[in-house]
Amino acid sequence: MVRENASIFERLEAELMRLMAEPLAAGLHLVATPIGHLGDMSLRAVATLARADTIYCEDTRHSAKLLARYGIAQPLESYHEHNGARMRPRILARIAAGRPVALISDAGMPLISDPGFKLVRAVRAAGHPVYVVPGPSAALAGLVVSGIAGEHFYFEGFLPAKSSKRRKRLGELASVPGALVFFESPARLSEMLHDARAVLGNREAAIAREMTKRHEEVLTGRLDALAARVDEAPPKGEMVVVIAPGPGQATEAGDREIENALDEALLHMSVRDAVDAVSARLKVARRRVYGLALARRKGME
Ligand code: SAM
Repeated sequence: MVRENASIFERLEAELMRLMAEPLAAGLHLVATPIGHLGDMSLRAVATLARADTIYCEDTRHSAKLLARYGIAQPLESYHEHNGARMRPRILARIAAGRPVALISDAGMPLISDPGFKLVRAVRAAGHPVYVVPGPSAALAGLVVSGIAGEHFYFEGFLPAKSSKRRKRLGELASVPGALVFFESPARLSEMLHDARAVLGNREAAIAREMTKRHEEVLTGRLDALAARVDEAPPKGEMVVVIAPGPGQATEAGDREIENALDEALLHMSVRDAVDAVSARLKVARRRVYGLALARRKGME
């Protein structure tokens, strides 16, 4: 039991001890790790990795640094595209012997443009459980920080490196009724923005760069302006590009989004003004917003 007036440090320690005291189930544990700021490592991620029989990662030297920071000394082995076929039977044998094993990637969520999909399929096919310890992922972080409506989005990851194939793929994505989320390298960013401008039209977009790190920044604007800016001063580091849906493609806001906007507006507006403001901002019929506002008020009475 933690004392009522325990400090934040005592509470965190107690929470970690509680997590560490639970046995870790046999199976594959997919564990998210920070995309930059090491403070984003969750307590459950630490406790899971610290109790795993073996931790599989892309690059053992890279992950050893993260684990050392938390005093985690479990054996580390590499699992990546090139040794996956050889490693999967070994990992399955470990799990079949009743051991919990963990999979991490260099950063963020394993499987999201990172290895692990075939392993998850193989573990499930063999009848063993797969667990997830969710956490940071550059895809979601980029989407939410972009300022582009993200109620509906499509995650593409990396586009093809060759311009002809990239343009073809962008053409296929042109009719997606939601924001498009890409991973991109600084070396290809300019070409990618120019191709996107040519294929998708001059849509609103954002580049979320070096998120959670010292040089974190979000560049926003239309694709032509962003491309010009990038050509003038090419940004460095890791980046996520988010592109808004084209005109007429955005799907109408859902009830939850309207209700959240109403709650915020009602803090400083009358019901009538809040309904007007939300209906204009989210481009939703006033009647629909008013109906939700009334239902909300009824629910509160
Ligand atoms: N699985 C990872 C995840 O869930 O975040 C993504 C792995 S993918 C191989 C790496 C790409 O993610 C980078 O090239 C970059 O596009 C993006 N990325 C990773 N960390 C980032 C950060 N801190 N800021 C912006 N983009 C980042």
